[in-house]
Amino acid sequence: MDEESVPQYRRARTIETNADLSAPTEELWHIHDNFAAGEQKETAVTTTSLLDLKIEIAQRMCRECHFCERRCYANRAERPGFCGVQRSKYSSEFLHYGEERELVPSHTIFLTGCTFQCAFCQNWDIARHPKAGAIADADALARRIYARSIAGARNVNWVGGDPTPHIGTILKTMRALADLEQKTEGDARFLNVPMVFNSNTYYSTEAAKLLDGVIDVYLSDFKYGNDRCAKRYSHVDKYVETVTRNLLASQQRLMIRHLVMPGHVQCCTGPIVAWVRETMRDVKFNLMFQYSPYNVTDYPEINRFVSDAERREATNIAKGLNLI
Ligand code: SF4
Repeated sequence: MDEESVPQYRRARTIETNADLSAPTEELWHIHDNFAAGEQKETAVTTTSLLDLKIEIAQRMCRECHFCERRCYANRAERPGFCGVQRSKYSSEFLHYGEERELVPSHTIFLTGCTFQCAFCQNWDIARHPKAGAIADADALARRIYARSIAGARNVNWVGGDPTPHIGTILKTMRALADLEQKTEGDARFLNVPMVFNSNTYYSTEAAKLLDGVIDVYLSDFKYGNDRCAKRYSHVDKYVETVTRNLLASQQRLMIRHLVMPGHVQCCTGPIVAWVRETMRDVKFNLMFQYSPYNVTDYPEINRFVSDAERREATNIAKGLNLI
């Protein structure tokens, strides 16, 4: 976001892969992974760019969806998966001034549906109604992103619900945005839009590979310090293993968010802070206190706000480990 660096998606659009997009998926992954690993030739005109290759693989993944670690393998050409998403929709998009200081104003795009089912979800109208909203058409969204960039947006912030089921749409929007330069004589300064992936961090290893090389900032939730709490409140398995794996893989471009929950300082905040401190260097860590007991009457233990004592305790844990 220094306004001079080229965002990753634009580079991925200019890396020539020579891939034959009708090849078997295994072969496409092989080519993809080789390019991700190193030797990259950038050209002005490409026949099959690295971004094209990612889009083709994402489209195939959608037919037996495993974008997230639930791996429900829904054929989303025919039906929605567990997250409720079949075709991508978004409920709103605007310049957001309430995100982390480094990111604002942030062009936030709220995609509908979610891979989690958090008992305390604050965005339930977006997360639980995946069929609501406008169709996320890549060309139309690219034009909105360009317009918001001219209006002062420092980045595009893909969020929801959760953006993971929409990775294919996000990649296609990136290509449409990159191609605006030729189509509309778009001013390249306003196409230098960093991409922020603002997620629950529960994406699969394959999805992580598609995101690598096009995402500039991972704004990643780390909600629970153990699998028991993750299962009880968000109905997910293998939570800690999945989230820590994805955080480690993205740590060069990472901001971590942790929402402190009532009664969960010892079992969740403490272990999370300790893991981040022990495992990562110089990571941005946002300890958040805006938990609200929304619609959690079935979970009486979290049906209250975080107390002042818990707020102090969480802050002291993070300070004690030099994390904030
Ligand atoms: S993103 Fe949705 S459809 Fe895809 S694996 Fe996850 S829950 Fe299933």
